[in-house]
Amino acid sequence: MGTYFDEQETLSLQERSNRHDKRLAEMCRRGCAVSPYVKAAFDDYDLTADDIKSVKDLEKLPVISREWLVSLESGNPPYGGMTAPGLITDRIFTSPGPVYEPHLSEGTLWHRGYRAAGFGEGDIVLNTFSYHMVAAGLTFHEGLRSAGATVVPSGTSSTEMQVQLIRDLKVTAYTGTPSFLMAIIAKAEEQGIDVKADTELRKACFVAEPLQPSLRIKFEEEYGIDTYQMYGATEVGDIAYECREKNGWHLCEDVIVEIVDPETGMNVEPGQWGEVVVTRLNDIFFLFRFATGDLSRLLEAPCPCGRTSRRLDGIAGRVGDAVKVRGLFIAPSQLNKLRQQFEGLSFQIVITREDFRDNLKVLVASHDEISPEKIDRFVKSFRDICSVRPDAVEVEDMAVLESSPGLIVDHREWR
Ligand SMILES: [Zn+2]
Repeated sequence: MGTYFDEQETLSLQERSNRHDKRLAEMCRRGCAVSPYVKAAFDDYDLTADDIKSVKDLEKLPVISREWLVSLESGNPPYGGMTAPGLITDRIFTSPGPVYEPHLSEGTLWHRGYRAAGFGEGDIVLNTFSYHMVAAGLTFHEGLRSAGATVVPSGTSSTEMQVQLIRDLKVTAYTGTPSFLMAIIAKAEEQGIDVKADTELRKACFVAEPLQPSLRIKFEEEYGIDTYQMYGATEVGDIAYECREKNGWHLCEDVIVEIVDPETGMNVEPGQWGEVVVTRLNDIFFLFRFATGDLSRLLEAPCPCGRTSRRLDGIAGRVGDAVKVRGLFIAPSQLNKLRQQFEGLSFQIVITREDFRDNLKVLVASHDEISPEKIDRFVKSFRDICSVRPDAVEVEDMAVLESSPGLIVDHREWR
């Protein structure tokens, strides 16, 4: 199997889709049968459990934001009625809100992500996620164990303690946030330790914080640490993970991921940006269509690693920080990515509304001459990254652009 965890990762698209449809229908039937709240919620939308037969049918149900989940749970603690009454679990986690999450330890999360990152038997992994109250520490711990690795549950111990553990226990891999690993490396260097030469640390798997491309290069080239990313949300567990191609994140097998227009809750066209909405297939917590608030899109092309699941194209930002042009999102992070590709070129997008249609103009400026070929390349990259085509690109004076701060200028009036 190589770095695959199991055969589910190479199912045909049809097989996976059938499996998801079947499990979703079961989850709806069970939810309506055991939970009066779920039954009442279906009634409110004039639905019976049998109306949800496939993933496509999920659009009949509303999208549930984090704020809505908090209000449901605070109105009817601990789980807003989205479980069987008197549910017995072996753990109850909390996350700020507060949101309460029931967990059964048999349902392992994150295992495929760790395996894809090359974690396995023989690895000694420093798990720096908190084991206190929140789900992170223990669920990552179980994922690591399921992938076959030995875990050092170092949690939120001091960087000094983490350095000592890395040296004394010959730790080979790290899981946590990128910034905390950098802090540990800085502490080690302060003590005169050369991480590359004096320790066995060679792999890292990050969650819960974006990995800046420049920091990734630093970890890999300067410190010899191979880096991977995973993505999830505390309310729904693991959502996606990176493979050795490091080009997009494969969707986990036990979740249904939709990319939706947050205003309508309907799925966007394939390849477009939208909000990541997740339903975890399980038989104890009947939370359908949880809206993460994160902006992403699905990559439809097959991945050379052989996994057949579709991939998320990273997270472009929070839905609230993005602007919408002709129904399509543009996030500041996408524009920053574009900026990295065109060094020396300054630009600003200007959105206006003419005859009830959004107009997207890009002003570009440079201290050097801007050739028509360069503008063509810029427009092509703009379309690739933002999936929106600018209506016009105009060369502007550098001084004018510099005097008008901000990457995005939105002149539309909504009254
Ligand atoms: Zn892959």
